[in-house]
Amino acid sequence: MWTCRRRTAACSSGSAPRKPCNGYSPSVAITGGCAVHLALADYAPAAELANDLVRTSPTVHGTEDLPGRDALAAFLDGYGYDLRAPADDDVRDVHLLRREVRGIIETETAEQAVAGASVLLGRAGRAPVLRRVDDGRWRWHVPTAPDAPLAAELAAVAAVGIAGTVRALGHDRFRACAAPGCRGVFADVSRAGRRRYCTPELCGNRLNVANHRARHRTAAP
Ligand SMILES: [Zn+2]
Repeated sequence: MWTCRRRTAACSSGSAPRKPCNGYSPSVAITGGCAVHLALADYAPAAELANDLVRTSPTVHGTEDLPGRDALAAFLDGYGYDLRAPADDDVRDVHLLRREVRGIIETETAEQAVAGASVLLGRAGRAPVLRRVDDGRWRWHVPTAPDAPLAAELAAVAAVGIAGTVRALGHDRFRACAAPGCRGVFADVSRAGRRRYCTPELCGNRLNVANHRARHRTAAP
């Protein structure tokens, strides 16, 4: 049975698939594949993926959220990027990438962040191309190399997110989480730019609990 390693939309929407489009290939002996086309204007969801990737590390909340291939596949599912399906060997490379992405978010200057993003983009990104999208307009996209491994594809996504954040919002949108004891870092791509926590539903509560305890201690006789 022939299976597509990517979502069907990837192969039908990706421009100029290789001949033949190797996205359709046997489930064994995968060679080649369709390029992933990353819209440069859509940096925010790419940055959110980078944020989410960073906080899967045990460095942030004490647990390894990407222990294996299945967890990695579940993590990547739902972002809308037609990335290569993970193999066991990809997990370690994604862990290494995660550390790099964190390091770039922690850089002290915009120049350093952009330089780091450029390194990531260079792993799989190719020259930007114009593609006509659904509304008929032409938009800049970065295609990835069809043979790029998953970690390189993911690096390109993170790079688009980080570089786009610097360009559109500024380097001060890279922040450390404000929750006590949390080592999370993130890119704030919200419109208001007031995000304080790497994981709002968790770290915001952590701060509330800490404040509650502090008040309780102060009020105690
Ligand atoms: Zn946090």
